[in-house]
Amino acid sequence: MKIANIEVFALTLPMKSDFSISGGQVGNQQQGAPHVYVKMTGSDGTVGWGEARPSHRWSYETLESVTTTIHHYLKPVLVGEPAWDLRRIHHKMNRQIAAGWNKGMPIAKAAVDMALHDLLAKHHGIPLPRLWMGAFKDSIRLSYLISTNDPETAYEKAKYARENGFLAVDVKIGLNPQQDVRILEAVKQAAPDLYFRVDANQAYDLTQAVRLAREMERIGVDVFEQPLKANQLHGHAELRRKTVIPIALDESIWTAGDLIQAIRQEACDMVVIKVTKMGGLTEAKLCGEIAGEAGLGLLGGGLTESTLGLTASAHLFNYLDIQIPVDLNGPIFLADDPVTDGLKVEKGTVPLSGQSGIGCTISNDKLEKYGTKTL
Ligand SMILES: [Mg+2]
Repeated sequence: MKIANIEVFALTLPMKSDFSISGGQVGNQQQGAPHVYVKMTGSDGTVGWGEARPSHRWSYETLESVTTTIHHYLKPVLVGEPAWDLRRIHHKMNRQIAAGWNKGMPIAKAAVDMALHDLLAKHHGIPLPRLWMGAFKDSIRLSYLISTNDPETAYEKAKYARENGFLAVDVKIGLNPQQDVRILEAVKQAAPDLYFRVDANQAYDLTQAVRLAREMERIGVDVFEQPLKANQLHGHAELRRKTVIPIALDESIWTAGDLIQAIRQEACDMVVIKVTKMGGLTEAKLCGEIAGEAGLGLLGGGLTESTLGLTASAHLFNYLDIQIPVDLNGPIFLADDPVTDGLKVEKGTVPLSGQSGIGCTISNDKLEKYGTKTL
Protein backbone atom coordinates (compact mmCIF):
# COMPACT_ATOMS: atom_id res chain seq x y z
CA MET A 1 0.00 0.00 0.00
CA LYS A 2 1.25 3.47 -0.92
CA ILE A 3 0.20 6.86 0.38
CA ALA A 4 -2.28 8.10 -2.24
CA ASN A 5 -3.34 11.41 -0.70
CA ILE A 6 -2.95 13.60 2.38
CA GLU A 7 -5.60 16.18 3.27
CA VAL A 8 -5.27 18.66 6.11
CA PHE A 9 -8.10 20.32 8.05
CA ALA A 10 -7.52 23.42 10.19
CA LEU A 11 -10.19 23.49 12.90
CA THR A 12 -11.29 25.81 15.67
CA LEU A 13 -13.08 23.66 18.23
CA PRO A 14 -15.49 25.17 20.77
CA MET A 15 -14.25 25.27 24.37
CA LYS A 16 -16.38 24.96 27.50
CA SER A 17 -13.72 26.50 29.72
CA ASP A 18 -10.55 28.59 29.30
CA PHE A 19 -7.08 27.07 29.79
CA SER A 20 -3.91 28.85 30.90
CA ILE A 21 -0.36 27.77 31.71
CA SER A 22 2.52 29.85 33.08
CA GLY A 23 3.27 31.06 29.51
CA GLY A 24 -0.26 32.48 29.08
CA GLN A 25 -3.64 31.40 27.78
CA VAL A 26 -3.59 28.47 25.34
CA GLY A 27 -7.31 28.55 24.51
CA ASN A 28 -10.49 30.35 25.55
CA GLN A 29 -14.24 30.12 25.11
CA GLN A 30 -14.47 33.21 22.87
CA GLN A 31 -11.84 32.16 20.33
CA GLY A 32 -11.96 28.35 20.64
CA ALA A 33 -9.04 25.94 20.39
CA PRO A 34 -6.80 25.33 17.34
CA HIS A 35 -6.69 21.69 16.19
CA VAL A 36 -5.41 20.17 12.95
CA TYR A 37 -6.81 16.92 11.53
CA VAL A 38 -4.97 14.95 8.83
CA LYS A 39 -6.70 12.48 6.52
CA MET A 40 -4.35 10.01 4.85
CA THR A 41 -5.71 7.81 2.07
CA GLY A 42 -3.90 4.62 1.05
CA SER A 43 -3.69 3.25 -2.49
CA ASP A 44 -6.21 0.52 -1.50
CA GLY A 45 -8.74 3.17 -0.40
CA THR A 46 -8.15 2.75 3.36
CA VAL A 47 -8.31 6.05 5.29
CA GLY A 48 -6.24 6.95 8.36
CA TRP A 49 -6.68 9.98 10.62
CA GLY A 50 -4.20 11.96 12.71
CA GLU A 51 -4.40 15.04 14.92
CA ALA A 52 -2.15 17.83 16.12
CA ARG A 53 -2.98 20.48 18.70
CA PRO A 54 -0.62 23.46 18.34
CA SER A 55 -0.40 25.84 21.34
CA HIS A 56 1.71 28.84 20.47
CA ARG A 57 2.02 29.80 24.15
CA TRP A 58 3.58 26.37 24.81
CA SER A 59 5.80 25.96 21.72
CA TYR A 60 6.33 27.80 18.45
CA GLU A 61 3.93 25.94 16.14
CA THR A 62 0.57 27.50 15.20
CA LEU A 63 -2.66 26.44 13.47
CA GLU A 64 -1.43 28.18 10.33
CA SER A 65 2.15 26.86 10.37
CA VAL A 66 1.11 23.25 11.06
CA THR A 67 -1.46 23.34 8.24
CA THR A 68 0.81 24.93 5.65
CA THR A 69 3.79 22.73 6.61
CA ILE A 70 1.77 19.57 6.03
CA HIS A 71 0.07 20.83 2.87
CA HIS A 72 2.96 22.59 1.12
CA TYR A 73 6.03 20.69 2.39
CA LEU A 74 5.23 17.21 3.76
CA LYS A 75 2.44 16.08 1.43
CA PRO A 76 4.48 16.59 -1.80
CA VAL A 77 7.33 14.33 -0.60
CA LEU A 78 5.09 11.64 0.97
CA VAL A 79 2.41 10.97 -1.63
CA GLY A 80 3.42 7.86 -3.59
CA GLU A 81 5.71 6.57 -0.82
CA PRO A 82 5.19 3.08 0.67
CA ALA A 83 3.00 3.56 3.75
CA TRP A 84 4.62 0.71 5.72
CA ASP A 85 8.16 2.16 5.62
CA LEU A 86 8.07 4.34 8.76
CA ARG A 87 11.82 5.01 8.77
CA ARG A 88 11.72 6.24 5.19
CA ILE A 89 8.64 8.42 5.90
CA HIS A 90 10.34 10.08 8.89
CA HIS A 91 13.61 10.47 6.97
CA LYS A 92 11.69 12.24 4.20
CA MET A 93 9.83 14.51 6.64
CA ASN A 94 13.02 15.39 8.57
CA ARG A 95 14.92 16.11 5.35
CA GLN A 96 12.11 18.35 4.09
CA ILE A 97 11.69 20.29 7.38
CA ALA A 98 15.15 20.28 8.93
CA ALA A 99 15.93 20.28 12.64
CA GLY A 100 16.50 23.46 14.63
CA TRP A 101 17.26 23.10 18.33
CA ASN A 102 15.37 19.83 18.03
CA LYS A 103 13.19 18.11 15.45
CA GLY A 104 11.67 20.76 13.13
CA MET A 105 7.85 21.19 13.33
CA PRO A 106 7.27 18.08 15.48
CA ILE A 107 3.58 18.83 16.00
CA ALA A 108 2.92 18.92 12.23
CA LYS A 109 4.93 15.71 11.74
CA ALA A 110 3.06 14.06 14.62
CA ALA A 111 -0.30 14.48 12.87
CA VAL A 112 1.11 12.78 9.76
CA ASP A 113 2.72 9.97 11.80
CA MET A 114 -0.55 9.38 13.69
CA ALA A 115 -2.57 9.22 10.46
CA LEU A 116 -0.03 6.74 9.06
CA HIS A 117 -0.39 4.47 12.12
CA ASP A 118 -4.20 4.60 11.84
CA LEU A 119 -3.96 3.81 8.13
CA LEU A 120 -1.61 0.84 8.62
CA ALA A 121 -3.60 -0.68 11.50
CA LYS A 122 -6.88 -0.30 9.58
CA HIS A 123 -5.25 -1.84 6.49
CA HIS A 124 -4.50 -4.93 8.58
CA GLY A 125 -7.85 -4.76 10.46
CA ILE A 126 -6.17 -4.62 13.89
CA PRO A 127 -6.29 -2.16 16.82
CA LEU A 128 -3.33 0.22 16.99
CA PRO A 129 -1.35 -1.58 19.79
CA ARG A 130 -1.14 -4.74 17.66
CA LEU A 131 1.13 -2.81 15.26
CA TRP A 132 3.64 -2.76 18.13
CA MET A 133 3.03 -6.44 18.95
CA GLY A 134 1.34 -5.19 22.11
CA ALA A 135 -1.93 -6.22 23.74
CA PHE A 136 -5.09 -4.16 23.41
CA LYS A 137 -6.12 -2.80 26.83
CA ASP A 138 -9.64 -1.54 27.28
CA SER A 139 -9.14 1.57 29.42
CA ILE A 140 -6.71 4.09 30.84
CA ARG A 141 -6.78 6.21 34.02
CA LEU A 142 -6.69 9.99 33.69
CA SER A 143 -5.45 12.65 36.07
CA TYR A 144 -7.53 15.78 36.66
CA LEU A 145 -6.02 19.06 35.48
CA ILE A 146 -6.19 22.12 37.71
CA SER A 147 -5.13 25.44 36.21
CA THR A 148 -6.06 28.52 38.23
CA ASN A 149 -4.44 31.34 40.18
CA ASP A 150 -7.14 31.26 42.84
CA PRO A 151 -6.58 28.93 45.85
CA GLU A 152 -10.33 28.57 46.53
CA THR A 153 -10.98 27.43 42.95
CA ALA A 154 -8.03 25.03 43.24
CA TYR A 155 -9.59 23.59 46.40
CA GLU A 156 -12.98 23.12 44.72
CA LYS A 157 -11.45 21.48 41.64
CA ALA A 158 -9.32 19.10 43.72
CA LYS A 159 -12.42 18.19 45.74
CA TYR A 160 -14.31 17.54 42.49
CA ALA A 161 -11.47 15.29 41.25
CA ARG A 162 -11.46 13.26 44.45
CA GLU A 163 -15.26 12.92 44.58
CA ASN A 164 -15.44 11.87 40.93
CA GLY A 165 -13.03 8.97 41.13
CA PHE A 166 -9.84 10.55 39.79
CA LEU A 167 -6.70 9.09 41.38
CA ALA A 168 -4.34 11.96 40.45
CA VAL A 169 -4.29 15.72 40.01
CA ASP A 170 -2.05 17.68 37.69
CA VAL A 171 -1.69 21.23 38.97
CA LYS A 172 -0.33 24.09 36.85
CA ILE A 173 1.70 26.65 38.79
CA GLY A 174 3.60 29.80 37.88
CA LEU A 175 0.45 31.56 36.58
CA ASN A 176 0.88 33.89 39.54
CA PRO A 177 3.97 32.79 41.49
CA GLN A 178 2.80 34.67 44.63
CA GLN A 179 -0.12 32.23 44.90
CA ASP A 180 1.76 28.99 44.17
CA VAL A 181 2.22 27.78 47.76
CA ARG A 182 -1.38 28.62 48.72
CA ILE A 183 -2.68 26.76 45.66
CA LEU A 184 -0.60 23.68 46.47
CA GLU A 185 -1.75 23.74 50.09
CA ALA A 186 -5.40 24.05 49.00
CA VAL A 187 -5.12 21.08 46.62
CA LYS A 188 -3.41 18.93 49.26
CA GLN A 189 -6.09 19.82 51.79
CA ALA A 190 -8.92 18.88 49.41
CA ALA A 191 -7.32 15.73 47.96
CA PRO A 192 -4.61 14.48 50.35
CA ASP A 193 -4.55 10.92 48.99
CA LEU A 194 -4.36 11.66 45.24
CA TYR A 195 -1.12 11.45 43.25
CA PHE A 196 0.07 15.05 43.18
CA ARG A 197 1.81 16.20 39.99
CA VAL A 198 2.84 19.87 39.78
CA ASP A 199 3.79 21.46 36.45
CA ALA A 200 5.56 24.83 36.28
CA ASN A 201 6.00 24.92 32.48
CA GLN A 202 9.49 26.53 32.78
CA ALA A 203 8.31 29.39 35.05
CA TYR A 204 11.24 29.61 37.48
CA ASP A 205 14.95 30.20 37.90
CA LEU A 206 17.00 27.78 39.99
CA THR A 207 16.82 29.80 43.23
CA GLN A 208 13.02 30.08 43.03
CA ALA A 209 12.68 26.39 42.14
CA VAL A 210 14.81 25.27 45.11
CA ARG A 211 12.72 27.42 47.46
CA LEU A 212 9.47 26.04 46.01
CA ALA A 213 10.73 22.44 46.14
CA ARG A 214 11.36 22.85 49.89
CA GLU A 215 7.71 23.95 50.29
CA MET A 216 6.63 20.95 48.21
CA GLU A 217 8.54 18.62 50.56
CA ARG A 218 6.55 20.09 53.46
CA ILE A 219 3.19 19.93 51.62
CA GLY A 220 3.72 16.46 50.10
CA VAL A 221 4.01 16.78 46.32
CA ASP A 222 4.81 13.66 44.29
CA VAL A 223 6.60 15.19 41.30
CA PHE A 224 7.78 18.67 40.22
CA GLU A 225 7.58 19.00 36.43
CA GLN A 226 9.67 21.32 34.25
CA PRO A 227 10.51 24.00 36.83
CA LEU A 228 13.30 25.61 34.74
CA LYS A 229 13.73 26.67 31.12
CA ALA A 230 13.82 23.81 28.62
CA ASN A 231 17.54 24.16 27.81
CA GLN A 232 18.68 24.12 31.47
CA LEU A 233 19.59 20.46 31.92
CA HIS A 234 22.46 21.42 34.23
CA GLY A 235 20.08 23.52 36.36
CA HIS A 236 17.63 20.64 36.67
CA ALA A 237 20.49 18.33 37.68
CA GLU A 238 21.51 20.87 40.35
CA LEU A 239 17.91 21.11 41.59
CA ARG A 240 17.75 17.32 41.91
CA ARG A 241 20.74 17.42 44.26
CA LYS A 242 18.95 19.97 46.48
CA THR A 243 15.55 18.30 46.94
CA VAL A 244 14.00 14.90 47.51
CA ILE A 245 11.01 15.79 45.27
CA PRO A 246 11.38 13.84 41.98
CA ILE A 247 11.99 16.14 38.99
CA ALA A 248 10.21 15.46 35.67
CA LEU A 249 11.20 16.94 32.32
CA ASP A 250 8.64 17.78 29.63
CA GLU A 251 9.60 20.77 27.42
CA SER A 252 13.30 19.74 27.73
CA ILE A 253 12.71 16.39 26.01
CA TRP A 254 11.33 16.42 22.46
CA THR A 255 13.43 13.64 20.95
CA ALA A 256 15.27 10.47 21.93
CA GLY A 257 18.49 12.49 21.56
CA ASP A 258 17.26 15.07 24.11
CA LEU A 259 16.34 12.24 26.46
CA ILE A 260 19.80 10.69 26.23
CA GLN A 261 21.42 14.06 27.01
CA ALA A 262 19.13 14.39 30.07
CA ILE A 263 20.10 10.87 31.20
CA ARG A 264 23.82 11.62 30.75
CA GLN A 265 23.50 14.79 32.83
CA GLU A 266 21.30 13.10 35.47
CA ALA A 267 18.83 15.94 34.95
CA CYS A 268 15.57 14.13 35.79
CA ASP A 269 13.86 11.31 37.65
CA MET A 270 10.89 11.13 35.28
CA VAL A 271 10.08 11.95 31.67
CA VAL A 272 6.82 13.25 30.22
CA ILE A 273 5.89 11.29 27.09
CA LYS A 274 3.70 13.23 24.64
CA VAL A 275 2.83 12.01 21.17
CA THR A 276 2.57 15.38 19.45
CA LYS A 277 5.55 17.01 21.17
CA MET A 278 7.75 14.07 20.17
CA GLY A 279 6.76 14.21 16.49
CA GLY A 280 4.38 11.26 16.62
CA LEU A 281 3.81 7.79 18.00
CA THR A 282 7.10 6.51 16.52
CA GLU A 283 9.46 8.75 18.51
CA ALA A 284 7.22 8.91 21.60
CA LYS A 285 7.34 5.09 21.79
CA LEU A 286 11.13 5.13 21.39
CA CYS A 287 11.49 7.75 24.14
CA GLY A 288 9.24 5.73 26.47
CA GLU A 289 11.25 2.59 25.89
CA ILE A 290 14.63 4.31 26.40
CA ALA A 291 13.43 6.07 29.58
CA GLY A 292 12.09 2.78 30.93
CA GLU A 293 15.37 0.98 30.25
CA ALA A 294 17.26 3.86 31.90
CA GLY A 295 15.22 3.40 35.08
CA LEU A 296 13.36 6.69 34.79
CA GLY A 297 9.68 7.04 35.68
CA LEU A 298 7.16 7.73 32.92
CA LEU A 299 4.42 10.34 32.95
CA GLY A 300 1.91 10.56 30.11
CA GLY A 301 0.65 13.87 28.83
CA GLY A 302 -0.98 15.66 25.95
CA LEU A 303 -1.59 19.13 24.61
CA THR A 304 -5.39 19.07 25.16
CA GLU A 305 -5.93 17.02 21.98
CA SER A 306 -9.49 16.07 21.06
CA THR A 307 -10.71 12.46 21.21
CA LEU A 308 -8.58 11.30 18.25
CA GLY A 309 -5.22 12.40 19.67
CA LEU A 310 -6.28 11.40 23.17
CA THR A 311 -7.15 7.86 22.05
CA ALA A 312 -3.91 7.40 20.08
CA SER A 313 -1.93 8.60 23.12
CA ALA A 314 -3.92 6.34 25.46
CA HIS A 315 -3.03 3.28 23.33
CA LEU A 316 0.67 4.20 23.49
CA PHE A 317 0.61 4.84 27.25
CA ASN A 318 -1.06 1.46 27.77
CA TYR A 319 1.61 -0.17 25.60
CA LEU A 320 4.36 1.55 27.63
CA ASP A 321 2.58 0.37 30.82
CA ILE A 322 2.46 3.87 32.34
CA GLN A 323 0.90 3.30 35.77
CA ILE A 324 0.45 6.89 36.98
CA PRO A 325 -2.85 8.38 35.70
CA VAL A 326 -2.08 10.34 32.53
CA ASP A 327 -2.72 13.98 31.73
CA LEU A 328 -4.95 13.71 28.65
CA ASN A 329 -7.32 16.51 29.36
CA GLY A 330 -8.95 17.71 26.12
CA PRO A 331 -12.44 16.60 27.27
CA ILE A 332 -12.20 18.95 30.27
CA PHE A 333 -11.94 21.93 27.93
CA LEU A 334 -13.64 21.01 24.64
CA ALA A 335 -17.39 21.48 24.13
CA ASP A 336 -17.42 19.44 20.90
CA ASP A 337 -15.14 17.25 18.87
CA PRO A 338 -15.07 15.83 15.29
CA VAL A 339 -15.08 12.24 16.62
CA THR A 340 -18.64 10.89 16.57
CA ASP A 341 -18.29 7.83 18.82
CA GLY A 342 -16.66 9.88 21.56
CA LEU A 343 -15.12 8.48 24.69
CA LYS A 344 -16.83 8.98 28.02
CA VAL A 345 -14.67 9.80 31.00
CA GLU A 346 -16.14 8.13 34.06
CA LYS A 347 -14.44 8.01 37.45
CA GLY A 348 -11.25 9.26 35.81
CA THR A 349 -11.19 6.32 33.41
CA VAL A 350 -11.38 6.46 29.61
CA PRO A 351 -12.68 3.28 27.96
CA LEU A 352 -11.05 2.30 24.65
CA SER A 353 -12.70 0.35 21.88
CA GLY A 354 -11.20 -2.64 20.12
CA GLN A 355 -11.97 -1.23 16.66
CA SER A 356 -9.24 -1.34 14.04
CA GLY A 357 -6.78 1.53 13.88
CA ILE A 358 -6.93 4.20 16.57
CA GLY A 359 -10.64 3.39 16.86
CA CYS A 360 -12.27 6.75 16.11
CA THR A 361 -14.93 7.64 13.53
CA ILE A 362 -14.64 11.18 12.18
CA SER A 363 -17.65 13.32 11.24
CA ASN A 364 -17.23 15.14 7.92
CA ASP A 365 -20.03 17.52 8.97
CA LYS A 366 -18.09 18.58 12.04
CA LEU A 367 -14.87 19.00 10.05
CA GLU A 368 -16.81 21.40 7.87
CA LYS A 369 -18.61 23.09 10.76
CA TYR A 370 -15.39 23.87 12.66
CA GLY A 371 -13.17 24.42 9.60
CA THR A 372 -10.98 27.54 9.62
CA LYS A 373 -9.34 28.93 6.52
CA THR A 374 -5.53 29.03 6.77
CA LEU A 375 -4.27 28.06 3.31
MG1 LIG B 1 4.07 19.61 31.25
